[in-house]
Amino acid sequence: MSKKKSTSVKMRPESLMMSHGYKPELSEGAVKCPIFQTSTFVFKTAEEGKSFFEVAYGKRNLKPKEEVGLIYSRINNPDLEILEDRLCLWDEAEDGAVFESGMAAISTTVLELLKPGDLLVHSEPIYGGSDHFFKHILLKFGIYSIGFMPNQSKAEIIEMIEATGKAKNLAMIFIESPANPTNDLIDMKMCVEIAKKYSTKDKKVITAIDNTFLGPVFSHPLKHGFDLVLYSATKYIGGHSDVIAGACVGSKELMKRVKSFRSIMGTMASPNTGWLLMRSLETLKMRMTVQAENAKKVAAWLDKHPKVEKVYYLGLLKKGDKQYNTYKTQCLSPGAMISFDVKGGEKQAFKVLNAMKLIKLAVSLGSTESLAEHPYSMTHTPVNDDLKKKMNLTEKMIRLSVGVEHYEDIIADIEQALAKI
Ligand SMILES: *Cc1c(COP(=O)(O)O)cnc(C)c1O
Repeated sequence: MSKKKSTSVKMRPESLMMSHGYKPELSEGAVKCPIFQTSTFVFKTAEEGKSFFEVAYGKRNLKPKEEVGLIYSRINNPDLEILEDRLCLWDEAEDGAVFESGMAAISTTVLELLKPGDLLVHSEPIYGGSDHFFKHILLKFGIYSIGFMPNQSKAEIIEMIEATGKAKNLAMIFIESPANPTNDLIDMKMCVEIAKKYSTKDKKVITAIDNTFLGPVFSHPLKHGFDLVLYSATKYIGGHSDVIAGACVGSKELMKRVKSFRSIMGTMASPNTGWLLMRSLETLKMRMTVQAENAKKVAAWLDKHPKVEKVYYLGLLKKGDKQYNTYKTQCLSPGAMISFDVKGGEKQAFKVLNAMKLIKLAVSLGSTESLAEHPYSMTHTPVNDDLKKKMNLTEKMIRLSVGVEHYEDIIADIEQALAKI
């Protein structure tokens, strides 16, 4: 390492969220990036327009120091470009793309990278929208998918892949970790090894992860060899329950394909969404840190409560537990998602949910306010009963997304609610 390199300070993402990628001199000196609420951009000359289009359609590469020209907001817009540059910092990704929803990010990315006849392997359980997309929509296009459970071994998963008779066509491994709502972890290293096993000189099996629950602050899958990281930016990244958005980050090569397809599908985010997310990113680290600290206290309290049967929270994993090593290797914090079983069933769980005052009864997660829901009858309704049983998802479970309120107030609210049963 050169002397210069070792003494230069690399700033952390949270320090760069207020400035990275934005040039005030291009916006009348405004300290904040304005909302570029425009559909199209004026070219200085016809020659310039021609040259921008050549780059946009891949007819030539950018010259040294040349920046991508602004053409039309389905193709590019300053609010999205600056936001994408900032999002990349957390995952140390080469490039990123922002979408108008998490599902738009997932569907656009997967459709671009898979073709008829391909096999997709995914972890179970997976977000309801992704589940439906994989099992019903992709099937219409002749793309097959199979799911594996969090505790299945590498050998068992390989056996499942072989049993499909389509092992040669394996094109993507897609995981969600931690899994919702049980916080089960999927071993990223194992997935990368399986992908390598089925990759050939002409075909790389792509590894993709939905990193919504812990990322982008507490989990960095690209460092563990994953190719693509996807987000519902509606959750922690947006963080205020006021915007629906999604993102995908990864290598330049893959993101070029994803971004071209996004332009054609028209699934990009609006300038206003981009601007809202930039505002949110400024406080992302702070929010997630406070939420995780709160969750730690709430989980410890729940774990001792006589009316609570079991708590599903990464911070309660102990040395020797099956997933402890995976947790230590790939998570920087337990995050702020807690599920817990109350003693009883649906009736008792509903009583608690109906009695909460500070904590809002709503699906979604990752926002400043604490939210609670009943996975069995709400977010996980479409999951078949057999799978629910296998993953310990029963009527007595409540899922909690811990917010930024004072932890004692959160605990007091749960305490008075639990007292109703
Ligand atoms: C919410 C969510 C999605 C879908 O994102 P939208 O922004 O609602 O489209 C995908 N994955 C996970 C893990 C989610 O929680």
